[in-house]
Amino acid sequence: MNKEELQKIKEKALKEYIPIIMDDTLEVVGSILKELKPSKILEIGTAVGYSAMCFSEYLQEGGRIDTIERDEERVKEAKENIEKVEVAEKIHIIEGDAVEVLPTLEEKYDAIFIDAAKGKYPFFLQQALRMLNKNGVILADNILYKGYVMGDYHKHKQRTAVRNLREYIAEVTNNPKLETQILEVGDGLAISKLKQ
Ligand code: SAH
Ligand code: MG
Repeated sequence: MNKEELQKIKEKALKEYIPIIMDDTLEVVGSILKELKPSKILEIGTAVGYSAMCFSEYLQEGGRIDTIERDEERVKEAKENIEKVEVAEKIHIIEGDAVEVLPTLEEKYDAIFIDAAKGKYPFFLQQALRMLNKNGVILADNILYKGYVMGDYHKHKQRTAVRNLREYIAEVTNNPKLETQILEVGDGLAISKLKQ
């Protein structure tokens, strides 16, 4: 992988306010993936491919990441980026709305990274549980949404997102099949595994 190109892509994304994975979150996810050695990763929300390219380092030989993005411009940029960073053979970008794409996927995944529309997190969880391998992990980024999720105060505009993120947290913590940790790294990260 071309790390210099990856660094340039990261800087450009930050300059353009594209919400890429934060460094401390990446550190935690990286250490989980390093231990897990996944063959298949599913990502919901590609943006310009930054997190997928970072995760690709932890794939097993011959492994693959499927990543879904609905914004046409971002898909185009992500495709160019994975070429530049020389990881195109490991990353498969699916263009479309994850709400429509997910039910069509038939495979199982070792790690599923949820990082798209906050209002859809409960639906993404339901789909992720259907596709998760026995030893797999579901990671949900931005789960604490700038502190709004734990606080009483949020603007009207954020209400649906907050309600759905709270619903996600309730489901992963109350589901007897799951073991979940909520970390305050970055914008909040939920880590859920199936009880063995
Ligand atoms: N994972 C990326 C950042 C993703 S930002 C990284 O860390 O580098 C969230 C992205 O999800 C945005 O690009 C947005 O267009 C996309 N998105 C939001 N809702 C979506 C949906 N329902 N289906 C597909 N993509 C979605
Ligand atoms: Mg995010």
